[in-house]
Amino acid sequence: MALHGKTALVTGSTSGIGLGIASVLAARGANVVLNGFGDPTAALAEVRRHGTQVAHHGADVSDPAQLAELFEYVRTSLGGVDILVNNAGIQHVEAVEAFPVERWDAIIAINLSSVFHGIRLALPGMREKGWGRIVNIASVHGQVGSVGKSAYVAAKHGVIGLTKVVGLETATTQITCNAICPGFVLTPLVQKQIDDRAAKGGDPAAAQRELLAEKQPSLEFVTPEHLGELVLFLCSEAGSQVRGAAWNIDGGWLAQ
Ligand code: NAD
Repeated sequence: MALHGKTALVTGSTSGIGLGIASVLAARGANVVLNGFGDPTAALAEVRRHGTQVAHHGADVSDPAQLAELFEYVRTSLGGVDILVNNAGIQHVEAVEAFPVERWDAIIAINLSSVFHGIRLALPGMREKGWGRIVNIASVHGQVGSVGKSAYVAAKHGVIGLTKVVGLETATTQITCNAICPGFVLTPLVQKQIDDRAAKGGDPAAAQRELLAEKQPSLEFVTPEHLGELVLFLCSEAGSQVRGAAWNIDGGWLAQ
């Protein structure tokens, strides 16, 4: 699968899964626009080693105006978005009756509404070009619940519903829209959950083993590289009839 001449925008790609996906896409020849908070120097260096054009834009995806600026930046600097990976996401774990309202609003804005805005802003350019790939990084939590994760689970279920509708609305075009549902991937988002468990007693290695044993039958983490390779498949000709799908890559989590 060669992506030379294509431009990929990966939201939330200064760390974790987004960075891994961006790196795999660049390795196959795509120009890439990274997005996300924090100093992007290391992420830019990682993705640039593949020799394609790579830039960073620090838009806060929870703000539709900043997202619009990000898409305008990609249009003027790299010819518009061919591959959109809606990946930015946050987590907060707390029982529903104690869940901070501000965290609920932030999770819905970042994990769900930004996916709607990204798709809305990407589709006109993709229709003009006659080709496009939209990949929404949902989660196993788009299909099942876990205690303490009300906002995250609600947002990810919403992402899968939105993916189905966009898959249908683009079904007769060369644009596809799909969701990927990872199980646990060892990124800062999951490391925080391991650290919180360890803080309640026990060592971090035991907390990590327990976290996997509770949910993920393979007892191994999914990696950002695995997810990057799945995005590549969805970008390929062989992936062109995968539409509106929610594709599990979860070490067996959802088979239980
Ligand atoms: P991470 O914390 O490592 O990275 C999140 C990225 O999003 C960072 O680059 C951060 O700067 C960016 N970000 C956060 N808020 C933002 C905002 N408002 N605007 C722009 N960028 C923002 O997290 P991760 O584990 O790599 O998660 C990436 C995606 O994968 C999320 O949607 C998450 O829900 C999903 N996911 C993660 C796992 C897992 O086990 N780690 C499993 C399933 C799904």
